[in-house]
Amino acid sequence: MNIGFIGLGNMGAPMALNLLKAGHHVYVYDLVESTVQMLEASGAVRAASPAKVASADIDMLITMLPASVHVKQVYLGDDGVLAAVGKQVLLIDSSTIDPQTAREVAAQAAAQGNDMLDAPVSGGTGGAQAGTLTFMVGGDEAVFERALPVLQAMGKNIVYCGGAGNGQVAKVANNMLLGISMIGAAEAMNLGVSLGMDPKVLAGIINTSSGRCWSTEVYNPYPGVVETAPASRGYAGGFGADLMLKDLGLATEAARAAKVPVVMGAAAQQLYQTFSSQGHGKLDFSGIIKLFSDK
Ligand code: NAD
Repeated sequence: MNIGFIGLGNMGAPMALNLLKAGHHVYVYDLVESTVQMLEASGAVRAASPAKVASADIDMLITMLPASVHVKQVYLGDDGVLAAVGKQVLLIDSSTIDPQTAREVAAQAAAQGNDMLDAPVSGGTGGAQAGTLTFMVGGDEAVFERALPVLQAMGKNIVYCGGAGNGQVAKVANNMLLGISMIGAAEAMNLGVSLGMDPKVLAGIINTSSGRCWSTEVYNPYPGVVETAPASRGYAGGFGADLMLKDLGLATEAARAAKVPVVMGAAAQQLYQTFSSQGHGKLDFSGIIKLFSDK
């Protein structure tokens, strides 16, 4: 299949590489020249703008951009996708953005005859590289079925979540819980170690007891407990604290609009804001343990 791909960052570049590996022809665009060159060297074809990607000979176009403002710019801008794309092209936005913007852009695409899905992911950069991402997909179910084989080249769990925007709803709910649970894991690990427990023994008990969760088991925030976790390499790489702060902002904003209380989510947002304001926004989000300890 011929596929356009816009946004070749930490997630988008490995996702586009997996499409190439699966035998698709990929047209790419990004603002950063070095990443375009890297994709080109791997067999992708460069395009000069989002509109040029959209008007290339493609069947599907995928975007993986930082935030809502970039998604609006790339789809709705003067040199953007909707101004140039043919009606046969299926549009998929995999960026994490607010459900309202996802619904607005999908409605504008539908108004001009284009099918569109919101398909945010979880699984991080490791999942993007390994092609094991989870996709949470909102939009028409028949369109979802058409997109499935392509999404399977980049992910392992591809879940249909309902109408337009529902992929983003699933994503913000999951990430709000992840932010909350990471802070809980950090507090519990720090409490136990401060009171004299060995961190590995404590984590082992939690992970076979009722406190167990992904943040304690796979991604423990205490250094040295999980060798592959960012905590064991100075919180470098992984999922940046500023991205978690962004997702918590999306969750609390969506909750405000829906008049639904998210007390723990709002507290988590403020704690990540504190962490970011201390200059730690680029560290992995598990580094939040630094708020409680000198680790
Ligand atoms: P990133 O900042 O590494 O990459 C974004 C890319 O978009 C950059 O290469 C940037 O140059 C490009 N870009 C920005 N504006 C553009 C424009 N107008 N036209 C073309 N390209 C443009 O971000 P990322 O880590 O790849 O994340 C992308 C999305 O995926 C975000 O919404 C993020 O929340 C979400 N996400 C990230 C992770 C993760 O672990 N990094 C995990 C799950 C979801």
